[in-house]
Amino acid sequence: MALEQLEKCAKIMNLDPNIHEILKYPKRVLCVYIPVRMDNGKIKVFKGFRSQHNDALGPFKGGIRYHPNVTMDEVIALSMWMTWKCSVVGLPYGGGKGGVICNPKEMSIGEIERLSRGYFYAISKIVGPEIDIPAGDVNTSSREMAWFMDEYSKLKGYNVPGTITGKPVEIGGSEGRTEATGLGVAIVGREAAKCLGINLKGAKVVVQGFGNVGYYSAYFLEKLGCKIIGVSDSRGGIYNKEGLKLDAVREFKAKTGSVVGFPGAEVITNEDLLELECDILVPSALENQITEKNANRIKAKLILEGANGPTTPEADEILHKRGVMVAPDILANAGGVSVSYFEWVQNLQGYYWSKEEVFDKLDKLLVKAFNKVYRIYEEYKVDMRMAAYVCAVSRVAEAMKIRGWV
Ligand code: GLU
Repeated sequence: MALEQLEKCAKIMNLDPNIHEILKYPKRVLCVYIPVRMDNGKIKVFKGFRSQHNDALGPFKGGIRYHPNVTMDEVIALSMWMTWKCSVVGLPYGGGKGGVICNPKEMSIGEIERLSRGYFYAISKIVGPEIDIPAGDVNTSSREMAWFMDEYSKLKGYNVPGTITGKPVEIGGSEGRTEATGLGVAIVGREAAKCLGINLKGAKVVVQGFGNVGYYSAYFLEKLGCKIIGVSDSRGGIYNKEGLKLDAVREFKAKTGSVVGFPGAEVITNEDLLELECDILVPSALENQITEKNANRIKAKLILEGANGPTTPEADEILHKRGVMVAPDILANAGGVSVSYFEWVQNLQGYYWSKEEVFDKLDKLLVKAFNKVYRIYEEYKVDMRMAAYVCAVSRVAEAMKIRGWV
């Protein structure tokens, strides 16, 4: 998917073939095997990766995910998407991504901590505030970031908060980082709704995925006046056309482990959830959710990609023809990495901002990026993903040329 999207963009913008050739590949991928002492006393070896796609604009940046289906190719694709994401919002970063093949849902906290420390130690030679700054992603949160930061700092012999973002505020995290991705989704949604003439007051919203991104997207969209009628997690979805009480759903999930079974809501599969009658759909789970199989049945007028890669290129074509706007991942979920950037800046200068300052700066950054992309969308008459790509790839290509890489 990542290669296909790049290819499509290269044609639209007439990209220099030499630059295209370089951009098809990551600059470096490290594969590590991490021995972890499990609670039963035995050693289990886990496999992990860190892919560094491109650093023409600045140090590599991107999260680390824990998931049983992680593959090296997936991590490489995700690192390429990070290059575009950082570029489209104008951050001084390149793209990177990490992943460990594991199922944290079946591991104890102690096992996850030992795995986290082992993984970060294993990749420590190629990360650091000036080299590559990891963060959270699927199944990793501020808890893991704290262990990563601690492990790296122990190795160096002094505190290095700027080597990782998404840390708890107590140890140099930024105010607002937890909510940032979801807030960004809502900001991009607000701007897109203006362009499409969607009135957010009472607009019906469906959110797939109820992790950090899904929950906060729903939370901030609700604040803008939307009605959240469906949400889901990996075990299934729930639906109530009158609207769901978000706080109560969150509490229910914290207690039971899933949103499924929430009183007063209909149970629905993750597949059916995507096809619900609604104005805005927010896929915030994993890749490959909207494909050529279901794209024709999507009822939403606007799709906000909270997840990375939820829509396939075939589905993009179908949705574009049908007049459904897709605010692409590299723009819609860029709020996370943007506040990661703010966190890194605060760490480097040792001076910390209030949540209001962070949210205000994020709003300005994303509105600027959205408008830039929207202008390209109107000028080139392509879909929003390609508009975002043209914007992102041009900036990286320019930096590569200036640096003399081609
Ligand atoms: N994992 C998030 C993403 O895909 C955040 C990356 C970061 O903050 O560096 O954008």
